[in-house]
Amino acid sequence: MGVYQTDALVIRSREYGESDRLLTLFSREQGKLHAVAKGVRKPRSKQRAGAQLFTYADFLLYHGKTLDTINQASPKESFAFLWGDLEKSLAASAIAELLDIGTLQGQPYPELFSLTLAGLFLLEQFDPAIVQAAYTLRSLTYLGYRPKLSECAECGRPIKENRIFFSPEDGGVICGQCLGDNARLGRWLSAGSLAFMRQLISVDLAKLDRLRWNEGMKKEILTSLQFLSEQIFNQRLKSWSMGSRLANVGQNQSGKDGHVDERSNLDGTGED
Ligand SMILES: [Zn+2]
Repeated sequence: MGVYQTDALVIRSREYGESDRLLTLFSREQGKLHAVAKGVRKPRSKQRAGAQLFTYADFLLYHGKTLDTINQASPKESFAFLWGDLEKSLAASAIAELLDIGTLQGQPYPELFSLTLAGLFLLEQFDPAIVQAAYTLRSLTYLGYRPKLSECAECGRPIKENRIFFSPEDGGVICGQCLGDNARLGRWLSAGSLAFMRQLISVDLAKLDRLRWNEGMKKEILTSLQFLSEQIFNQRLKSWSMGSRLANVGQNQSGKDGHVDERSNLDGTGED
């Protein structure tokens, strides 16, 4: 294959060797792929910007025997606003992590690529947690895991209860009659949270800012979506857990503004 070009998002960036980075790219045409960015940890490297987490760039890659190498990266968008905002950068990390565990290498997902790019752009203006929740429900839908949120996943009857059991194993919500006494893994949702989740899937993405939730709904929905995704892909979502810990700290402390530059700690440095 030699040299090839692709436009892609950097969804993971890990230190590699003495001065390199191993990037996970999500490409519009080729889906997920891994490539080495050589020498980018040297202070004067011209390729630093293109190896940055969440950067959207045009990449020129060399197809190697074991790993592809980045010859050149021309950034189109660096999402610089993520740098100074911990909540936004955690939501971006949550999106990137879900995309990473939910997709297979070398398989194109053009709709998911567009959704991910749109999601990152939306983080600039909108509530990052709402963007994260909408992204999750929509990406699960693209991947064939749309949860049943209107009818009981077992008997198909419309859900009328005020508190509803959400069971990832069963693929959605379970009505009071079907729930019975059997032990199931899941989470309880209020009728309001359930209605909100349906809106997150159906509303025009550009109008997400019209949706309003309260802290209780936010917690219920994000916890349920994390649990659902972890059950589906059988993997822990580390940045999601980090996000919920941050939310708890935020509730217990006054004067939080989230303006901490934590981006460098989110790129997987030092892990694995
Ligand atoms: Zn039922």
